Amino acid sequence: MKKIDMIVKSDHFYTMTGEGVGYKTGVAMAIDKGRIIAMENESEILGEYSAEEMLDLKGKAIFPGFIDAHMHTGYGIMRGLAQDTNFWMMYGLGPFNNVVTEEERNSGSKLAIIEAIKAGTTTLGDYEYNMDIVSSFIDKLGARGNLTQLIREAVERVYAPGEIYEFNPEKGEKSLQEALDLYDKWHNKADGRIKILFGPQGADFLSEELLLKIQRIAKERNTKIHMHTQQGDRETYQVVKRYGKRPVAYLKDIGYLDETLMAVHLTDANDEEAKVVARSGASMILCPGSIGIIDGIVPPSVAFQEAGGNVALGSDQAPGNNCHNIINEMKLAALFNKIKYQNPEIMPAYKALRMATIEGARAIGLGDDIGSLEVGKKADFIAIDLRKPSMLPIYTKPMRNMVPNLVYSARGDEVFLSVVDGKIIYRDGKILNIDEDEIINHVSRYPESIGERASKEFFEINGTNAIFMKEEKL
Ligand SMILES: [Zn+2]
Repeated sequence: MKKIDMIVKSDHFYTMTGEGVGYKTGVAMAIDKGRIIAMENESEILGEYSAEEMLDLKGKAIFPGFIDAHMHTGYGIMRGLAQDTNFWMMYGLGPFNNVVTEEERNSGSKLAIIEAIKAGTTTLGDYEYNMDIVSSFIDKLGARGNLTQLIREAVERVYAPGEIYEFNPEKGEKSLQEALDLYDKWHNKADGRIKILFGPQGADFLSEELLLKIQRIAKERNTKIHMHTQQGDRETYQVVKRYGKRPVAYLKDIGYLDETLMAVHLTDANDEEAKVVARSGASMILCPGSIGIIDGIVPPSVAFQEAGGNVALGSDQAPGNNCHNIINEMKLAALFNKIKYQNPEIMPAYKALRMATIEGARAIGLGDDIGSLEVGKKADFIAIDLRKPSMLPIYTKPMRNMVPNLVYSARGDEVFLSVVDGKIIYRDGKILNIDEDEIINHVSRYPESIGERASKEFFEINGTNAIFMKEEKL
């Protein structure tokens, strides 16, 4: 008998192979050195291998770990402070974002990542300035990171309405250098669990020269560009005023639309523009909760998919979503599109699940390694507890209902176990490699002080949430 690291037994494997959900029963999964080495009839696996760890997950269903392709975890410290308002960035987020310290953001990052892990996310697509801290934390957790240090050239100051952003090349170069330092320090580290991508903030925030330089750098390093793309009318306005064309047309003309690009949001793109991006080989990241709450818009992901593009899901940020839970994003992606098209068939549960797994993996450049359960791929998977009330009752004949129950009914606490690279990182409510209580205690010490610092500007701006506070609506 061949000695290996792990055997997984379960009645239900959703492998996400093929065009659907790749359901298998009566099989077991053999794992060695972080990879799936066999998935065959249980008796054959048990006859051929003996495992260091025998995971008996009967009563659970096995899925690939979820992929959250776009997050700003540092904003986790400001959860619930910016929703339900127009001018989200300035009137909602501004008063708080202007006073939060680096230490507070790092604490928010840890909180958001814990939240995501507990709801079944195994690959985290964080995107901000504090990625060195986030890389260390993800390394320690044993999770997978697809991380991007934000690069920006536009000066951060208050602009008059209609004013074009001022570029500061020195700021842009410094910002790029920080991203390069992060790449050198972390790319392919933590046993290959961490990948570093390059993240120009958006076509409106960087000069054409710097955008193209970043593209050269990303291609030389065989990594991806993770960029907000036509993310709102503000970006469209800036790009039209500067270059005389809308962002997708501009990016196409400078040669930016190709398989290196992960286009985030496409909030202000129409179906035709979405198709142009999809046909170029670029992928899309859809953040339904965040764009719904911040803009009241359903981005054109269906058109993107119709044109053959891969779409991943993202939770974006906590002040303006307000959670990091891919189960929630699956439900919203399905529901919002059914409503948008007034058609319940447009986005079925299995398609949303594919966006959170195999299509998400392809979209972020990790399709060869994760996103489905098949021989040769890394052993990233989760076990869903089928005895939780939200998953019950379970039908297997004449039809199965586990996928719709997961997408439309589950909330996150149905995730019983998470494994990354063949190692258990979460089990029965407990994250194994960190002290969760310590992080929760840290988070709780900040709100009072942040509130004190933000108070003056919050009431001066007198945005929707300041009015709500005065009117006893919060
Ligand atoms: Zn973003």
